[in-house]
Amino acid sequence: PKSTAELRALDAAHHLHPFSDMKALNEEGSRIVVKAEGVWLTDSDGNRILDGMSGLWCVNVGYGREEIVEAVAAQLRELPYYNTFFKTTHRPAIELSAKLAELTPPQFNKVFFTGSGSESNDTVIKLVRRFFQIKEKPEKKIIISRRNAYHGSTVAAGSLGGMAPMHGQSAVIPDILHIAQPYFWGEARQGETPEEFGLRTARALEATIDAMGEDRIAAFIAEPIQGAGGVIIPPASYWPEVARICRERDILFISDEVICGFGRTGNWFGCETFGTEPDILVMAKGITSGYMPLGGVMVADRVAEVLLEGGDFNHGYTYSGHPAACAAALANLAIMQREDLVGRVANDVGPYLKARWSALAEHPLVGEAPMTGLVGALELTPDKAGRTKFPDVGKAGTLARDFSFKNNLVMRAVRDRLIIAPPLIISHEECDELVARVRKTLDETFAELKRWGWVR
Ligand code: PMP
Repeated sequence: PKSTAELRALDAAHHLHPFSDMKALNEEGSRIVVKAEGVWLTDSDGNRILDGMSGLWCVNVGYGREEIVEAVAAQLRELPYYNTFFKTTHRPAIELSAKLAELTPPQFNKVFFTGSGSESNDTVIKLVRRFFQIKEKPEKKIIISRRNAYHGSTVAAGSLGGMAPMHGQSAVIPDILHIAQPYFWGEARQGETPEEFGLRTARALEATIDAMGEDRIAAFIAEPIQGAGGVIIPPASYWPEVARICRERDILFISDEVICGFGRTGNWFGCETFGTEPDILVMAKGITSGYMPLGGVMVADRVAEVLLEGGDFNHGYTYSGHPAACAAALANLAIMQREDLVGRVANDVGPYLKARWSALAEHPLVGEAPMTGLVGALELTPDKAGRTKFPDVGKAGTLARDFSFKNNLVMRAVRDRLIIAPPLIISHEECDELVARVRKTLDETFAELKRWGWVR
């Protein structure tokens, strides 16, 4: 086997890392993760790293689950690949579709499989437009999304997203609009309570539908909690109002559950935590806990009926519902059910971590420390009372993230917001360890920012 130094040299020479500062990565090099168990990663220098991000919000059941490995290996031996296009299908895809119908809210009984979250959202764009074509309302094709949203990285899914850098680098597809997201800390006007702000933000949806005309709007897409946008947990008034608006209008409500689905918020799906009733569920990541790539789009019965009546939907990917990926999903979901991981997030480890996480709001650098289920954020601010921003937005967040990584804790930074989403199997002791590392990180960040003259 190659040494760490040799691997680093090859990495710098040949591997382009996206989503990062490519130049800095080539200069500094990356840590090479060699193995993992539970919530712990091991790098090629032998460091043990606490994975506060479950990989990329995937590894809900934790690393090292032999049961999933065995299920995948057995499936690869029996039938490594077959498609579900031309009057063929296979047992893992059938069993998984039935399992998903059992776990999702009652209106969901049918699934399209994909290979990822981005593919799922591409599927959704075609699907909602096809839905209204069949209903002979082809002019209903605008999809409303929210600023700062992340729905994937293909051109179409990136167009649904509301992040400027992703739009800047390629063409965006037409007929997608972006409205405000319920980010109270970031946007709150003086004198407005969170609840007033939540209502006003929700009503931006109504105002946009009215301004454009209901006959042109096909759908609204949102994550229950905006994840990659910074773990934006809306005020309590937001979702009931959005649900009312969607109910009263002839538009499809799409819940992107790629991050919030499969237990993250303390229910099987985030829409249940917030009491909305979507028409379409988008899933990926936690469906297999990241052990294999897989995505899915579930449609409510009223949507499925129309699509079936239309007769065709020309769509599918070679790896949609890959047998080994479906086998991984089935084993993963069996673990989640047997160990009641969703109940554990709701009633045990979720409240345990939240109590300790909320206390971080007392740190001089932290403006707010929200958490729902096992997904949380820390808003860094130079001045809590004034809710001010740092002179150069994003630098303090990156600084904190890098201190955290040095302290062998994986967190991510979105602007000046640190975000966390540990595996759902994290123990109480590991929660304590996580919070201790966060405190150390905040203290180190504070000291450095003092040197910069950014805090007093
Ligand atoms: N939707 C959401 C909410 C996501 O967070 C992501 C990935 N972070 C995606 C879609 C895209 O998923 P993928 O990376 O599997 O294409």
